[in-house]
Amino acid sequence: MGELAVIYDRKDRFLAVGLFDPESPIRVRLLHTGKPLAIDAAWWRQNLAQSLSKRAGRFDAQTTGYRLIHGESDGWPGLVLDRYDQALVIKLYTAIWLPRLEEILALVKEKVPCDQIILRLSRNIQSFVENEYQRRDGQMLVGNPPAGPVIFSEYGIRFEAEVVRGQKTGFFLDQRENRREVETLAKGGRVLNAFSFSGGFSVYAARGGAASVIDLDISAHALESARRNFALNQNFPSVAACRHECVQADAFEWIEKSQAKFDLVVLDPPSLAKRAADQEGAVRAYERLNSLGIARLNRGGILVTGSCSAHVPAAGFFETVRRAAAKSGRKFSEIKTRQHPIDHPASFKEAGYLKVIYLKFIT
Ligand code: SAH
Repeated sequence: MGELAVIYDRKDRFLAVGLFDPESPIRVRLLHTGKPLAIDAAWWRQNLAQSLSKRAGRFDAQTTGYRLIHGESDGWPGLVLDRYDQALVIKLYTAIWLPRLEEILALVKEKVPCDQIILRLSRNIQSFVENEYQRRDGQMLVGNPPAGPVIFSEYGIRFEAEVVRGQKTGFFLDQRENRREVETLAKGGRVLNAFSFSGGFSVYAARGGAASVIDLDISAHALESARRNFALNQNFPSVAACRHECVQADAFEWIEKSQAKFDLVVLDPPSLAKRAADQEGAVRAYERLNSLGIARLNRGGILVTGSCSAHVPAAGFFETVRRAAAKSGRKFSEIKTRQHPIDHPASFKEAGYLKVIYLKFIT
């Protein structure tokens, strides 16, 4: 465990070097390809410097929550580092990082000022890591445990992140640019935010002048957080003036039964294809969900709809949404599509998972 693996071609020429991962179907997690080189302390330092430099100057004091390391696309396979103001969260998706954790921590502490560092472990490695390395999910690596959720800012909006126990690392940082876009589309309208989680899209819509927003999620816990996020932003008169409602329900069922009409519908479901084999079923689910969402839109209404399923490629997802729109028989125009934000790079095809399409229904 924790060994480097060097890969040579048939003529014994160097191809790549990576971390050997005997516990995973991805047996070698590549760190470097091309010319041979030594993976030593200087290399790790350089690797971190490269990740940090991609973000340098991209976020000002208005945005203190963003991703510093995004796994394989940043040269750190299976490792994520997120910043939430003064708290850093290291999330590991493979146990290969454990033997190197101290070394990496020392580097991170040196380069990224912070008060706390929290370790998060993906569910499938938790018991292995506890047994082999005595490290727990949610363990503090630096500093004291936070008293509650950590508060950070995104374009001046304050949000809480449940860094110790929440989904992912506590917040869905990857949708930041879409949330900001939604702020510009919401003025005066009624907004439905389906699969709302902690109300991210809704607070933006409210700040953008939405008359009302509904957060719809199956998780009561997520909706409690959405309420607190609204409370945190009452300093914005438009947020204070917006009518905010939380509905705990299965989004598919609720939208199907609903008679209400909206001017903006946001659909941001969890991954509907966990494995490649789920792709067909997922495409059908996306088509159904989007048809249901479109039916709830007023004339002139806007659909903002996304997919975070890596097994459903962007082109296929966009086609599925356009098909649902065409089948509605309504006239619509496409506003835009968006994929990965700067702090969540996708440097190879399989790394791409996030895609969002914006449609306006004219009739
Ligand atoms: N849009 C959010 C992130 C959404 S994550 C943001 O910007 O932060 C997906 C959310 O969907 C989770 O909060 C999860 O609780 C919720 N969810 C999962 N299945 C659901 C279902 N069938 N109906 C409603 N919500 C569901």
